[in-house]
Amino acid sequence: TLGSPHRYALGVLYGDGIGPEIVSAAVLIADAALSAAGAAPLTWQELPLGLRAIEECGEATPKATLAALAETDGWLLGPHDSASYPEPFRSELNPSGTIRKHFDLYANVRPAKAFEGGDALAPGADLVIVRENTEGFYADRNTHLGTGEFMPTPDVAIAMGIITRTACERIAREAFELASRRRKRVTIVHKANVLKLTTGLFRDVCREIARDYPDVAVDDFHIDAMTVHLVRRAREFDVVVTENMFGDILSDLAGELAGSLGTAPSLNASRDRAMAQAAHGSAPDIAGQDVANPAAMILSTAMLLEWLGTRHQDEALVRAARIVEEGVGSTLERGIRTRDMGGAAGCRAFTEAVAASIGQL
Ligand code: ATP
Ligand code: MG
Repeated sequence: TLGSPHRYALGVLYGDGIGPEIVSAAVLIADAALSAAGAAPLTWQELPLGLRAIEECGEATPKATLAALAETDGWLLGPHDSASYPEPFRSELNPSGTIRKHFDLYANVRPAKAFEGGDALAPGADLVIVRENTEGFYADRNTHLGTGEFMPTPDVAIAMGIITRTACERIAREAFELASRRRKRVTIVHKANVLKLTTGLFRDVCREIARDYPDVAVDDFHIDAMTVHLVRRAREFDVVVTENMFGDILSDLAGELAGSLGTAPSLNASRDRAMAQAAHGSAPDIAGQDVANPAAMILSTAMLLEWLGTRHQDEALVRAARIVEEGVGSTLERGIRTRDMGGAAGCRAFTEAVAASIGQL
């Protein structure tokens, strides 16, 4: 009705392994932060995916789940353990790939931020990798090329990479919009001295889009040089935009420099939908033991709240996202950490500590 705020609906996909523990922690913290920020509560909708969905629906990524997600504003995706699925599900495209492809989530946004007490190799690092997630040489994931690999003879294998202007434009816009809200610097990563046509197009289109953002500083590096700069001076970078394969490699490097796998969040976004997903896997070795670190999933959810708030110009949601980040940051700084970070707090105890610190803001 007129004047009433939009009530956002978010999907909840628990996934496998530690997924249910960390996703429910993220929902709890998001609710606490929304209330602290004076934002309207969200509507959460749980949907089957992964092992549970195979048992209940006979599909790892049920069509009904995809249809329900299409009616939401975004969702939390818990990690899945597709290597443990029975055939034929194990050989199919895994749930996160299926969802990314179905909704054309072309932007993989992966921050690498060193937290106080997080054991970072690059203390003070606070950068974001914006990775194009549909093209390049990872052709099996894109819709234009089919598998993109073939063998003309048993002794020769060929891979094709594709770069299109449209895909470069949309990922470049994501990067520049993000940099405008941060420290206003974008670094373009390519290999235009060797892959002249493909990554050259990527660099050139990013440079063209840069003209629309005169207050954002731009530079560009070859991928090999960039690994050196990241190791030597990670702190100086703000937003790094790159194609699919380079982004895959760089985000692991940057994530490791910034610190723990347990605190590394990510967001997968298209123009109109976004999916929060921790950078780590389903950790079946520690599932159900209340020792998982929920920080990455919680911080991924904060990214989703910020994305929603920015898209709908809803200040309260952006505030809620900041509150989540501050709550996690201050909890870690106080030395409350899970086992993977050398602490003794369980998943629940850590989550309760974050909720308590949010309640005190
Ligand atoms: P995937 O193939 O799904 O990416 P993976 O084999 O790369 O999985 P992860 O599931 O990410 O591995 O786990 C790697 C190691 O890190 C495991 O020992 C796991 O227990 C640990 N680990 C991963 N995520 C967490 C977390 N959130 N909290 C604590 N430990 C974790
Ligand atoms: Mg992994």
